[in-house]
Amino acid sequence: MKKIAFIGLGNMGGPMAANLLDAGCDVTVFDLVPAAVEAACAKGAKPAGSAKEAIKEADIIISMLPAATHVKSLYLGDDGIVPHAKPDALIIDSSTIDAQSARDVGEAIESSGRHFVDAPVSGGTAGAAAGTLTFIMGGTDEAVSMARPILEHLGKNIFHAGPLGAGQVAKICNNMLLAVLMAGTSEALQLAIDNGLDPKVMSDIMLQSSGSNWTLEKYNPCPGVMENVPSSNDYAGGFMVKLMNKDLTLAMNAAAQSSSSTPMAALAQSLYRLHQGNGFADKDFSSIFSMFSSEK
Ligand code: NAD
Repeated sequence: MKKIAFIGLGNMGGPMAANLLDAGCDVTVFDLVPAAVEAACAKGAKPAGSAKEAIKEADIIISMLPAATHVKSLYLGDDGIVPHAKPDALIIDSSTIDAQSARDVGEAIESSGRHFVDAPVSGGTAGAAAGTLTFIMGGTDEAVSMARPILEHLGKNIFHAGPLGAGQVAKICNNMLLAVLMAGTSEALQLAIDNGLDPKVMSDIMLQSSGSNWTLEKYNPCPGVMENVPSSNDYAGGFMVKLMNKDLTLAMNAAAQSSSSTPMAALAQSLYRLHQGNGFADKDFSSIFSMFSSEK
């Protein structure tokens, strides 16, 4: 059986590693937070004391880290993946980072004869737990077909967006739209509430009307409308505001490089930055709803 190393066991990586274990895979894990390693080991993972130890015998390495700075240090550092992974390892980074950083680490890996795909995901923590994530891969046909069988344990839609870095470009465009949709949905729901409507009734109406979108279907931002989403759990867990701000910065940087006009994203970025500054950095991004719902 192929040995898998999984690095980064946070809101997304924790449930993804658990799904690999449920599928019967041999998984060694590492995270800087010991409690995250312990939780994975309670489900059958093997613990490692460092990333170097986790990857040394791995045939497949999957990383799920917050941002490019963490990915670059894990891949390019002295104790990292590029110097220490097995010569024929397949390496998959599912973090959301900028396309150039993905190309930098991917090229370093591929020039040493190994295979790499950037494979960011969509679907949130619920999708990670249910094994229904969407994977958006960038890389060669060969690397993508090697990665597909392992990712099928974790997701139900697996796309090949293009060459190295293309997965990240697609992911950034998607999250830019998500930021706008979440802010706009919050704004519409609060307008309905302020004018005497029940947010559950309003959500049901929009779901069957032209305003329907993913946030209404899967991730309603108004507390009490939907069960098992962050808005009904004091906006804990999920996708943190600081990570959405990271993704909006990635989108705005990409837009600057390609001279693209992204006015909706610029406004969304301003809103999420203000929201983060108001103490919501570690709350789920659907907490943007509270910016509209504060006492009038
Ligand atoms: P998170 O902050 O919950 O988890 C990241 C984990 O990485 C933490 O447990 C942290 O301790 C660990 N880590 C950081 N540096 C490390 C290192 N050098 N070695 C080992 N472990 C390290 O973040 P998350 O929500 O799981 O998101 C991970 C990535 O997935 C981000 O890039 C995010 O943008 C993306 N993403 C998140 C969601 C979501 O809904 N949460 C959805 C899609 C994509």
